[in-house]
Amino acid sequence: SDRLKGKRAFVTAAAAGIGRACAVAFARQGATVFATDIDEKGLATLKSEGIAEVATLDVRNTAAVNAMAERVGKVEILLNAAGFVHNGSILDCSDDDWDFSFDLNVKSMHRTIRAFLPKMLGEGGGAIVNIASAAGVFKAAPNRYVYGATKAAVAALTRSVAADFVGKHIRCNCICPGTIETPSLLGRAAAAGPNGLEMFISRQPMGRLGTAEEIAHLAVYLASDESAFTTGVAHTIDGGWTL
Ligand code: NAD
Repeated sequence: SDRLKGKRAFVTAAAAGIGRACAVAFARQGATVFATDIDEKGLATLKSEGIAEVATLDVRNTAAVNAMAERVGKVEILLNAAGFVHNGSILDCSDDDWDFSFDLNVKSMHRTIRAFLPKMLGEGGGAIVNIASAAGVFKAAPNRYVYGATKAAVAALTRSVAADFVGKHIRCNCICPGTIETPSLLGRAAAAGPNGLEMFISRQPMGRLGTAEEIAHLAVYLASDESAFTTGVAHTIDGGWTL
């Protein structure tokens, strides 16, 4: 319960799903966690989970991200979880859809890393963990055209940051989950019709969805000094989806 003791962690999209599970797991391992999201109500429920501080932050807003980094100061852990799943092929993806997905899924990470990295440099260094996806990085999923493109970009951005700062005590890894039971996944399942959930479960060879807590276990490892020798890697955790 002290694998992250003495570390300060900043988490985006922390009110629900994977970001929330990671923020809570970080706190349980002794980190001082600063949790942010656009969902104020969801954030408010994090206080009872041992999260040190919560604040609203829209990761699409560069000025707000920069101001937040000034306010928070030095951190040792940055976890980027914000992401949106656009449903459809290229023929369903307008320029606006493309821009929104890249802004929320990729440029958000560019914003937060650029704002926080200067504060992570120096003694002790830091660990950046980006939530990508098995879809796009390792496998094409149907109707995940722009989503897959954004997640491949997240993996590339992750490697670039890792390469540029490998000699400066900064590690940057990403996590590539399979199908994980989160509020937004359940929403996509419901929208897909009465058999939507069965469809999502059937594509997972283990016969079940993953949990956000299972992703958080990997995030704790990548945020901790236990993973000191890994950087720039897209870590798959997908219940065998890409086998
Ligand atoms: P989710 O999609 O339900 O969203 C989590 C949170 O993001 C919500 O609390 C929401 O308020 C917040 N959010 C939305 N827009 C925001 C913004 N502009 N600024 C700040 N916060 C914002 O949660 P999830 O399914 O756990 O997804 C989290 C990440 O995991 C995403 O990047 C997603 O692509 C990735 N992922 C999810 C799955 C899955 O099956 N659930 C699989 C692979 C990857």
